[in-house]
Amino acid sequence: MSEKPEEAPEEKKEAEKVAKTEKRKKRKKGVFSLYKTEKDKVVRLRPTCERCGPGYFMADHGDRYTCGRCGFTRYKLAEK
Ligand SMILES: [Zn+2]
Repeated sequence: MSEKPEEAPEEKKEAEKVAKTEKRKKRKKGVFSLYKTEKDKVVRLRPTCERCGPGYFMADHGDRYTCGRCGFTRYKLAEK
């Protein structure tokens, strides 16, 4: 008896591939999301790091901002 190794049906393989790609959602990321233009001036939507200087944006973590470069954390001031 010659037993051939079982081959996965192509259909199943394709379905898995599709499911995997669907899981990976494309997140828009880039510097363009950090700036906003108002008339003729550019507004930065994120604060820059005090330690690293301008050019290093801080990540928005809800109640605080953190710098991905030096780890500096600045809490947002309660605005009320
Ligand atoms: Zn920093």
